[in-house]
Amino acid sequence: MSLDQDTLEQLLDTIRRFVDERLRPLEARVAEEDEVPADVVAEMRELGLFGLSIPEEYGGLGLTMEEECRVAMVFGRTSPAFRSVFGTNVGIGSQGLVMFGTDEQKQRFLPDIATGELVTSFALTEPEAGSDSAAVQTRARRDGDHYVLNGSKRFITNADKAGLFTVMARTDPDTPGAKGISAFLVPQGSPGLSIGKPEKKMGQHGAHVCDVVFKDVRVPAENRIGAEGEGFKVAMQVLDRGRLHIAAVCVGAAERLIEDCVAYATERRQFGKPIADFQLVQAMIADSRTEAMAARALVMETARKRDTGASTTLEAAASKYFASEMVGRVADRAVQIFGGAGYIADYGIERFYRDVRLFRIYEGSSQIQQLIIARETIRG
Ligand SMILES: Cc1cc2nc3c(=O)[nH]c(=O)nc-3n(C[C@H](O)[C@H](O)[C@H](O)COP(=O)(O)OP(=O)(O)OC[C@H]3O[C@@H](n4cnc5c(N)ncnc54)[C@H](O)[C@@H]3O)c2cc1C
Repeated sequence: MSLDQDTLEQLLDTIRRFVDERLRPLEARVAEEDEVPADVVAEMRELGLFGLSIPEEYGGLGLTMEEECRVAMVFGRTSPAFRSVFGTNVGIGSQGLVMFGTDEQKQRFLPDIATGELVTSFALTEPEAGSDSAAVQTRARRDGDHYVLNGSKRFITNADKAGLFTVMARTDPDTPGAKGISAFLVPQGSPGLSIGKPEKKMGQHGAHVCDVVFKDVRVPAENRIGAEGEGFKVAMQVLDRGRLHIAAVCVGAAERLIEDCVAYATERRQFGKPIADFQLVQAMIADSRTEAMAARALVMETARKRDTGASTTLEAAASKYFASEMVGRVADRAVQIFGGAGYIADYGIERFYRDVRLFRIYEGSSQIQQLIIARETIRG
């Protein structure tokens, strides 16, 4: 279901103002305190941000992928930690349920996910199962009308705030790899479920990741998403979609950095003129602009293709690969254009440089995207 053009433009305008006027002034504070203030989270809820991708019948905005990418690009223009507040509800934390859940499961959880009352997390990664995510060892043993979960998950975004986890666990220990895995909805507060302390990270301070440990956690069988053995498929389809959203955030971040570079380069004077007059500085701006434009075009084209119902596994991987590597190069050039100031915390550029580094790692590292792109190309 897509919004009419006026409503979409109004929504984007409102979000743009929120990002520019409310969030950007808070960037340094959020990084310093490693927390997004509660009143900001409340405002995000009021804006409907937690429900961007949740179908309207469950209280969300039901945006198309193209519309969601446009919102993600606007949010890319500020610290990624802000997007993380609602990012799991929009993407990896809710989409298994949206795509594969039963009506009853959707009725039970989606309305609260859409309002942000319920924060969600996606728990796939484990200490021994990172890029090789089909190597999941967390065990889900059937016991009557329940499953009993044991194992641990690592680096789970928003785990300390989540009320609901989508957990991938092995239901069939005799079937190694993808086919033995199932997906479960596990509410916070389930006896035996515990959350580790937030990890100290390189960047994106204000967004938290923690271990999630399951010790004889009983989960009703009705909380399984999809059929037994379908969990890996659920996870891959969720990530397929999530990668496009992340790529859109990278585009927004690059565009923000380019604007910051232009503002600085036109103001900062050396050798009697603005450094923007020097062609070697212009070359950096040109390279960044060109790459950001190419990434924007790729992401938007892929989003539109996805909205037709076509498979975009290859294109989503290419979007994430190109956009996340691109924003890394743009951030690196931004440090260079700012010179010494680029390395000094007060200017915020070094913070962005650290923040965007993550995009090349999570939701599938660049190497994993390359493997997907090659596999799909060779197969095609
Ligand atoms: C801040 C943060 C948030 C995260 N949030 C979540 C979350 O919410 N939920 C979740 O489930 N996970 C989450 N993750 C985990 C993330 O998805 C993994 O860290 C990522 O997939 C890489 O896995 P790994 O860390 O085990 O690295 P490894 O798999 O050990 O990879 C190490 C290096 O080897 C390379 N490599 C691995 N296999 C191959 C191969 N076959 N060919 C070529 N190169 C290869 C990788 O590309 C990488 O460069 C998060 C991680 C971080 C840091």
